[in-house]
Amino acid sequence: MRFTFMTLFPQLIEGYFQDSILKRAVERELFSYDFCNPRDFSTSRHKKVDDTAAGGGAGMLMNPQPLFDALDTFKDAHIVFTTPVAKPFVQNDAKRLAKKEHIVFVSGRYEGIDERVIEQYADEVFSIGDYVLTGGELASLVMSDAVARNVQGVLGNSESLDVESFETSLLEAPSFTKPANFKNLSTPSEYLKGNHSKIAALKNALSIAKTKYFRPGQLLQYKTRA
Ligand code: SAM
Repeated sequence: MRFTFMTLFPQLIEGYFQDSILKRAVERELFSYDFCNPRDFSTSRHKKVDDTAAGGGAGMLMNPQPLFDALDTFKDAHIVFTTPVAKPFVQNDAKRLAKKEHIVFVSGRYEGIDERVIEQYADEVFSIGDYVLTGGELASLVMSDAVARNVQGVLGNSESLDVESFETSLLEAPSFTKPANFKNLSTPSEYLKGNHSKIAALKNALSIAKTKYFRPGQLLQYKTRA
């Protein structure tokens, strides 16, 4: 698996892969990442990558030429654009994209990207939520992180993927670690007794309660399927 981040600001992304689980996964060659800066493809004298919006309006847009030329170098890759207006990126998208060989995440800046670029090159377009960020780098990082942890071998214990929230319509049950009693706050006693079927039943009940509280719509899906 290879990620290419198409961005005017690669340094905003680079640090994220230089620690912890994702760093180790890169070292073990489970995935790789690189950068492509559209500015390097600009044919204008001053390496310009933005221009005013046709028809007026505030702010600048990323102009098509550098992006067209940059994207032309990735003929076989799966091209993903970031934009606040698209459908939200969800766990199923992360799992599906983890099977691709090469994904290019395109980060917009300024007031966004000339629409012709998206129309011409997008295999998929995603938002990471209903708010507007200053650029697509965080969105690209969010998606690539979620994709990477679904790549075989990236998480030490792949079982942890199966029981996570969004794998089924129920959210993951609350988790506790040691000590069993901390500042008079205790772990549910059933968790400590070692009876696996009782622990599983309690976790299921707690998952239902948590889903009802945080995601009532999702609980409805669970009930419809059951
Ligand atoms: N003018 C655009 C609008 O109102 O729809 C917003 C452009 S935003 C300031 C600049 C870039 O940030 C976008 O091109 C996109 O790449 C990225 N971006 C901002 N919010 C995002 C979100 N919620 N999800 C994904 N990408 C986002």
